[in-house]
Amino acid sequence: MRSTKPRKQFAQHWLKSEKALDRIVKAAELSGDRVLEIGPGTGILTRRLLADAEAVVAVEIDRDLCLQLAKQLGKKDNFLLLQGDFLEMDLEAQLTTFERFQNPNKVVANIPYNITGPIVQKLLGTISQPAVKPFDSIVLLVQKEVADRLYAKPGSRAFGALSVRVQYLAECELICDVPAKDFYPPPKVDSAVVRLRPRLIENPAANPKHLENLVKLGFSSKRKMLRNNLKGVVDVETLVQVLENLQINPQSRAEDLSVEQWINLSNNLLEENRL
Ligand code: SAH
Repeated sequence: MRSTKPRKQFAQHWLKSEKALDRIVKAAELSGDRVLEIGPGTGILTRRLLADAEAVVAVEIDRDLCLQLAKQLGKKDNFLLLQGDFLEMDLEAQLTTFERFQNPNKVVANIPYNITGPIVQKLLGTISQPAVKPFDSIVLLVQKEVADRLYAKPGSRAFGALSVRVQYLAECELICDVPAKDFYPPPKVDSAVVRLRPRLIENPAANPKHLENLVKLGFSSKRKMLRNNLKGVVDVETLVQVLENLQINPQSRAEDLSVEQWINLSNNLLEENRL
């Protein structure tokens, strides 16, 4: 059988740091949980999860790795391995006959970095279509640059459209940094472990689709002031008035507004349009 030579095509980088594995598993706070793992690879994280979780369902795209994993871990009755592309998979449908693995409540994964955005979106949903059954927590090893955006605070350079979209749906925190040398082969970038906790939004946007579009447009040109980026949808005077009403500096750029301020801005602009 093929050895576990990492394949570039599937963004395979095997984590080899025990310390990083400890941090990931600890951050997941496992006890009686059903865990979903995306991209188990050689199973280094999977073995840890199996020791602490009630059940682990892992989705791996690489057939050869699946054969190997099935050989090594297939006998464990709290382990279910599904071969396929996580992005394409209807997980709920796949799990209909596996009662023990249905409705996993946590995600723990060292994911392929080339599809980080789509994975996060599939796990959390979007502003206008949040996940119907949100996970309790999602612990992910991602590239550092993406991690920085996920937990960025408003006003910081890293705070972008992704920060608003994800933080609208979940609380995000940094667990630890993981240097490139902790992987084989080392990726070109450093990495970090983040934890996302999907949350109920206390004051959700009146029209989530509107908020989604507003955020997209607001961040369309990073250097510009918000009022310039939004010129196409709202005249400057109205916008300045709305911003002042909300006690937001009219000179603000998109990255200066908190998630709450984005929600308020969207709601207020909608009201203006109704007049
Ligand atoms: N968790 C392992 C491997 C991480 S590398 C470790 O920590 O060492 C990323 C893994 O995701 C690889 O095993 C790769 O084959 C798998 N993968 C890549 N694209 C995938 C997809 N679309 N769906 C499921 N798994 C995928």
